[in-house]
Amino acid sequence: MKPLGNCLRASFFILMYLLYLDDSGSVANKNETYLVLGGVCVPETSTRWLSYELEKLAHEINPENSAAVEFHASEIFGGRGRIWSKFTKPERIEIIRRVLLVLDNAYSNVVAFACAVHKNSYPSDDPVMLAFEDLSSRFNMFLRNEASDYNHKGLIVLDKSSYETSLQNLSFQFREQGDRWGSYQRNIIETPLFIDSRASRIIQLADHIAYSVFRRYNASDINYFNCIEGRFDQRDGIIHGLAHKQLYKRDCTCPACISRH
Ligand SMILES: [Zn+2]
Repeated sequence: MKPLGNCLRASFFILMYLLYLDDSGSVANKNETYLVLGGVCVPETSTRWLSYELEKLAHEINPENSAAVEFHASEIFGGRGRIWSKFTKPERIEIIRRVLLVLDNAYSNVVAFACAVHKNSYPSDDPVMLAFEDLSSRFNMFLRNEASDYNHKGLIVLDKSSYETSLQNLSFQFREQGDRWGSYQRNIIETPLFIDSRASRIIQLADHIAYSVFRRYNASDINYFNCIEGRFDQRDGIIHGLAHKQLYKRDCTCPACISRH
């Protein structure tokens, strides 16, 4: 009889990880120096739990109709919309922090990823594409490390209803170059999937992670970043999940740069 050991072992431990990403900041806005792409990597076994935790918070905010609550950090911060205008500014800041703090009770293999691009450092590049390429290779490396004995796979999920057009442009580029990209990132099984943020609480969490990194780099506001700083993918004292792409500050002391010095 054929030995089944390796076969069973390989197939039993296959786990699918989903990396939910959203952008923060505008490519065109000259008043903003940064563009951030960021989000959260979740094993398929934790997606329901994470969605449920965020749903509980939405229900607490609007018990009559939690579906009307869409967590979009810049709207909450600005008090825009019928729901958020009812809260004071300190209350709204606390809501953004509570969305991020949902990660505190997640398993350790639920990790954050983000790439902050200093736009003026790369004047001839599309910062969204730059950040996406950086994050997809970091995600692939994460899958390879997690899967050293097994065979884990990954899928990237992007916000379809992003207010920026850059992420939309990405979908066209992938339709054209998808095969070429796929051959580089072998553990990622497909070109990115675009979904509507209204339909996914986890994409809404990705929006908050991107926003907190954007505030950290663009406005030196660490109020939100502090909630997730320890959550970025890291190994042996090096933070792999956070990238600061810039060419103007060689001695940068941000957590991403300092862990690689
Ligand atoms: Zn830095």
